[in-house]
Amino acid sequence: MSFPLPSTLTPSKLTKFMSCPLAFRFSYIERLPEPPSPHLVRGTLVHKALQILHGAGSATGRTPERARATLDEAWDDLAESDIASLGLDSNASTTFRAEATTLVDRYLSIEDPTEVQPIGIELDLRADIDGVEIRGIIDRLDRLPDGELVVVDYKTGRAPRPDHARARMIGVHFYAYLCDQVLGRSPREVRLLYLRDPVVVTESPSAQSMRGVRQRAVAVWRAIERACEREDFRPSPSPLCKSCSFRPYCPAFGGSPERAREALFEPVTVGAAVGAD
Ligand code: SF4
Repeated sequence: MSFPLPSTLTPSKLTKFMSCPLAFRFSYIERLPEPPSPHLVRGTLVHKALQILHGAGSATGRTPERARATLDEAWDDLAESDIASLGLDSNASTTFRAEATTLVDRYLSIEDPTEVQPIGIELDLRADIDGVEIRGIIDRLDRLPDGELVVVDYKTGRAPRPDHARARMIGVHFYAYLCDQVLGRSPREVRLLYLRDPVVVTESPSAQSMRGVRQRAVAVWRAIERACEREDFRPSPSPLCKSCSFRPYCPAFGGSPERAREALFEPVTVGAAVGAD
């Protein structure tokens, strides 16, 4: 018997497997539920607001007032689902919303939305590399005045320390590779917009970085295939364990992966965590 392979390789799957194969197994093979997280829901909310902002209307209409109005629209869209799952009381809800507003304001401090020309929002691209289906959903693909392309990815967490910055670019270079394969054009730039700090990290894809994406994707996929075949996904303890939902089932912390399927997560009240991260 062996574990079933995921159908596609995405940047999230790739980085999860690279950081901890066992956490990858729990997330993408066993699909264990994880408790709702204010950090993730806030990210979803702000991404949705910026998606609405850039997804319709003329560029000149993307004023600061319009940006804040899109947060209201995104809030309404998510109020009964993602936001409700957090179980926030009135005070926590106010704080949560204020934090999201701050992120939108900081977005406006690093980019003038009236000056960008998006040609794709939440652009879903897929390509085949040596029999591996790779997939990525790009937050925004812009066209510069000279016709060149730019991949833009929003981040609502903290910007990494300089020694970790390179690893955080894996996802956007993966997207650049997809643009090259699917659209036949390599973007001139990939940009990470860290809204919280706020700071923009930019790199230029090269032939070498494209080869690197391809080699890494194939190598990681082959490693996933072997791990599925042997049912061998090992824990890889790191600072990420602090926020890992799977610690109760992780041998590195005295747990057993076999018990993961049997156990159900207790309902979690996370309102107290709002404003803490
Ligand atoms: S607790 Fe750490 S080692 Fe264990 S599954 Fe999570 S990330 Fe991996």
